[in-house]
Amino acid sequence: MERTILVRYGEIHLKGLNRPFFERALMNNLRDALKPFVGARVERRDGRVYVEGVAREDEKAAVDRLCRVFGVHSVSRVVGVDKDLDSIAAAALDLIREAAKEAPATFKVRARRSDKRFSLNSMELAAEIGGRVLKALPYLKVDVHRPQIMLDIEIRERAYLYTDAKKAVGGMPVGTGGRAMLLLSGGIDSPVAGYMIARRGVAVDCVHFESVPYTSGQARQKVIDLATIMAGYCGPMRLHIVSFTEIQQKLYEDGPPPLLTILMRRFMMRIAERLAKKRRCGALITGENLGQVASQTMDSLNATNAVVSIPVFRPLIGFDKGEIMDRARQIGTYETSILPYDDCCSV
Ligand code: ATP
Ligand code: MG
Repeated sequence: MERTILVRYGEIHLKGLNRPFFERALMNNLRDALKPFVGARVERRDGRVYVEGVAREDEKAAVDRLCRVFGVHSVSRVVGVDKDLDSIAAAALDLIREAAKEAPATFKVRARRSDKRFSLNSMELAAEIGGRVLKALPYLKVDVHRPQIMLDIEIRERAYLYTDAKKAVGGMPVGTGGRAMLLLSGGIDSPVAGYMIARRGVAVDCVHFESVPYTSGQARQKVIDLATIMAGYCGPMRLHIVSFTEIQQKLYEDGPPPLLTILMRRFMMRIAERLAKKRRCGALITGENLGQVASQTMDSLNATNAVVSIPVFRPLIGFDKGEIMDRARQIGTYETSILPYDDCCSV
């Protein structure tokens, strides 16, 4: 009996002739994500991805890690056995016993075979294994509609069995959709905005504007921490930190007070666009949202947009604040974002 991890990818299947390109990118990103798990091997067989060589005690951590790679749909720990009924039944019993923890529960066996030479068809196999499980573990019951434990059996070059399919982040592999420059503040919104665009396969660079000595080292560290959390999904990222002090001082000396915020924002956009061109980014990303604060009206969006010529992605434009906060919690950036260090906009 060998244990492997099965990685399912969703949307890539729709990609027709480009599919090998997406698959290669996904494989590379999976290998990068698994680097901390020494000995882990990523292999593609039968149009699926298997991860082998992960130590048993690391399996859960490896599954969690894989669930955060964009392009991955779901991940299961899988047992692989020879394609004979006794081996399959023994593995099925093991898995269901582990899932039920010796307590009464309902279960269902679902079988599929891509190897049509296998002696039983899917229905027959499910019934046979279900029957054997019932006999061995009489405290269990079958429920075909809403089982507590779902055991899947797939007959391929081996028989693969699993009971847990953990939902992953979905999206497209990073690197298949070009590159964009995220304006990353220390707030709640911009990390979520970057996450959403990266999930569509876009590699993300970040730029952060700081105003030392008016902004602190803690504020800078917070942004580095946010970028690090994002890198857990996107893979290695570049964070550009730009000193904004001189521009900000000049604006405070000479600028018309009611326009300070918008003027600052326009300078940020200009600088971000220059960096974007250097780094071959095709777009900017901001965490802007319509109506959230006084500076985020349609007029001010127009005013900041007017100074750049590449597209500006604002994936949060139509979200409520509560929805953005929920997403930040899911991603894991929320707790860092709410730390109280000033950024240059609040100075
Ligand atoms: P966030 O929660 O992302 O800070 P916000 O609701 O505070 O957004 P604003 O302060 O108006 O909104 O900023 C709008 C957007 O401008 C941010 O989402 C971010 O993309 C960009 N931005 C603001 N300040 C900075 C900064 N210091 N460095 C980089 N980008 C910034
Ligand atoms: Mg902010």
